[in-house]
This record gives sequence, C-alpha cells and structure tokens, in this order.
Amino acid sequence: MRMPEPYRIKMVEPIRLLAREERERKLNEAGLNVFSLKAEDVFIDLLTDSGTNAMSDNQWAGLMLGDESYAGCKNFYHLQDTAQGIFGYKYIVPTHQGRGAENLLFSILVKPGQYVLGNVHFDTTEAHITLKGGKPVNLVIDEAYDTSTYHPFKGNIDLQKLENFIKEHGTDSIAFMLITVTCNTVGGQPVSMENIKQVSEICRRYGIRVFIDAARFAENAYFIKTREEGYQDKSIPEIVREMFSYADGFTFSAKKDALVNIGGMIGIKDDEELYMRLRELVIVYEGFPTYGGLAGRDLEAMSRGLREVLSFDYLQSRISQVQYLGQLLSEAGIPIQTPVGGHAVFVDAGKMLPHLPWDSFPGVALTAELYLEGGVRAVEIGSLLMGRQAPTELVRLTIPRRVYTDNHMAYVAECLSNINKRRDQVRGVKITYEPPVLRHFLARFEWA
Ligand SMILES: *Cc1c(COP(=O)(O)O)cnc(C)c1O
Repeated sequence: MRMPEPYRIKMVEPIRLLAREERERKLNEAGLNVFSLKAEDVFIDLLTDSGTNAMSDNQWAGLMLGDESYAGCKNFYHLQDTAQGIFGYKYIVPTHQGRGAENLLFSILVKPGQYVLGNVHFDTTEAHITLKGGKPVNLVIDEAYDTSTYHPFKGNIDLQKLENFIKEHGTDSIAFMLITVTCNTVGGQPVSMENIKQVSEICRRYGIRVFIDAARFAENAYFIKTREEGYQDKSIPEIVREMFSYADGFTFSAKKDALVNIGGMIGIKDDEELYMRLRELVIVYEGFPTYGGLAGRDLEAMSRGLREVLSFDYLQSRISQVQYLGQLLSEAGIPIQTPVGGHAVFVDAGKMLPHLPWDSFPGVALTAELYLEGGVRAVEIGSLLMGRQAPTELVRLTIPRRVYTDNHMAYVAECLSNINKRRDQVRGVKITYEPPVLRHFLARFEWA
C-alpha cells in the first residue's frame, strides 16, 4: 500500500486555469518559453522543485524566532549543530543558495584549465566551473542515457571511465570530483552507496578530493535504503552519515532537501585551511559567515527542514507520488525515463515526437504544447539546455515537495495523454533570440 502523506493541510493557496485563448496569448508573449510566463498564469507549476517546497507549521513557527543580529545569530548555531549532526562534518558555511556555495568553493579549488569530474554536473554547476576557467567532465554510466531500461542507480559514475580519465590526463589536471546526488540532469537518478565508496577509494588513491553536490541527499538515501542490498534495516540518518563519510565536503542547495524556499551551504569535513579561505570569501560574496546572505529566520527554517526531511514516511510519500505520475504516463503509452527518479518524471520528448529533429527542439515544443493543453508548466532538459545536440531530449515534470495532490498528478497525466494522441501534429520550434550563457532561461522561439 502507498504511504499517504504524513501531514494534513492547514492552509491553501488558490490557483486558476486561464481560458485556452488566454493561454495562447500568454505563451506567444513569452516567446514560447515557459520560463517567461508569469507564475499566476500557470495552473500547475512543475517547472522546478527548487525553492517551491511547502514549509511545515514547525518551520513557520521557526521564522518567528529569527535572530536578525548581523554576527553570531542563534539560528546559525542551530543550523550548524543540526548540519554537523546530520553530515558528520566540522565546518558549515551558509550561503544564499546552492550556486553561491558553488561560486565560493570553485573560486578556491578550480585553477584555469583544470577538469572537474562528476557523474553529470548540474547546469549552474557547469556554468560556475566554466566561469573559473575549469572544464566540467561527465562520467556517468551509459545506462543513464538509455531511458527505457531499468537500472536501480542510473546516477552512478562509470569507474572504468574514471580510471581511464585520470590515467590519460594526470592528477594535476584534475581539480576535484563532484558527485551529484541524486543526479538531476539525467532524471533525478540515485547514486548507490557502493558507487560513492568506490569513487572515493579511486580518487583517494590518486590524491583527488571528493565533494558531493548534496541538493537531494535525503532522496538519494531513500533509494539506497529501498534498492541497495544491505541497507534495508539502516535508518535514513545512518545512510546519510555513511554517504558523506566518503567525501571531503559538499555544496548544498537548501531549496531542495532542506524543505525551504531559499538557502544553501557548504560543508567541509575537517580541512581547516579550506574552511578559513571560504570564510574570507563568503564575506565578500554572500555576507558574514554566520548568515551567508540569509536572514536569521531563513537559517532557522533550514535547520528545521533538514531534520524533517530525514523522516522515512515523508520520503516514501514524496517519492511514491513522483512514481504515481510516472505510472499514469506509462499506462498512457508515453515514453518516460525509467525507473522514475526522486523529484521528477522525465518524458522522453525525442521518442514521443520522433518526427522532430534535435534542432527543432522537441522538448521545447512539448513544454509549449503542455501549457496550451492544460496550463501545466514543465521544463526542457535537452539540446536547448545543453547548448548543443543532447544525448536525450527530455521534458522534466518536477514535483514540488508537499505542494500538490494526486489529483493534480492525474490531471497532468491526462493533459500529456491528450497531446500524445495527436503527437504527429506537434510542430517544432526555432530560436529567435538566445543569450550567450544559460540560454534556456531567456531564449525566445517561434513555431517552425
Ligand atoms: C539546484 C541545484 C543547484 C544550484 O542550487 P541553487 O540553490 O538553485 O542555486 C546545484 N546542484 C544541483 C544538483 C541542484 O539541483
């Protein structure tokens, strides 16, 4: 039986579905790019799970206890105690969000020309590596790009590719390893404990430091518990502790698994020198090291959310809701990335719309159609995002945490099913404007 939500609803936020003609007008004004729509013109917003979480009553109560002192606010110490306890690391540096953490850490660790290894780097991560003169390298297993076959841990790093890369390029050319859990870009796919451990062993052998991009650390731990041999009887906190024991530090977007709307941090296991340099930089870019660009109340909500996210019942209801949407889509004959990941269902737009070549952006076309069909906002993860021909043309339906009900999921599935029935008629799009970096946010299109 499916675990129902281990909470009940005490406040609601109205949403509305615009008439079809209005949706057409709004989409045209947005240059067919759903990023440019006003949120109030969207009925069900599955653009991202980032910062879109519903906070608990306990978190909202925590906001009232915000200590807005410039230096040494008590909420920082709550957060530090919580994070130290969860991850087993000595040093915690708060930042305004995940990319703030990336900016600081990469400024120190990436020298121009160096590679940063990973499974598949997230888009802002890739941008920050590149801006520091580094070169992002993706070493995920090939199964990650095969959407139709089952693999329990499609976010795993290919150990052979890793060894080969190190041997070919030498350790001096490598800044560090960054393992993204779960691996957002290939479908929120988890990384196994065994893989984290083996990657860490290989890197240690070559003197390469290992970091974790920890945005969805608790969801990853849930998959380890439910899919990996030997972890069924371990608790989520125990699994999290073990995952982080194999790394030297992490960057974290609290907008995901800290169940808040804004925040981030860096954790460093024990490297005091690195921590001291981060403390100098955080002051320049984010704020004093006890607030890192956040209000005291935000730090309090983060520390409370970090404790809540470790609940197995919560994780089970969360991830089974994502799986429920995946199941409805599969039943409707829509090709999706299998197995379904932790935070999103990825529709394989390339397979669904085989008549559209990659440079007419099947993923963008499908997100535009989905908005027209039912006011649903999704996001392309394909050739537009990658800035070149992508291995897969995916559309991500990202589920905010604790926000939508199963009825919303059923409605989304019905909209996609309607499009699927007339898929031959879906037109491609062409770019009319694109900015030089992170073009997917601001690009404009017209129907081809
Ligand atoms: C969201 C995210 C980031 C960036 O964090 P922000 O809080 O959006 O700045 C980095 N890595 C991964 C895997 C993410 O999902």
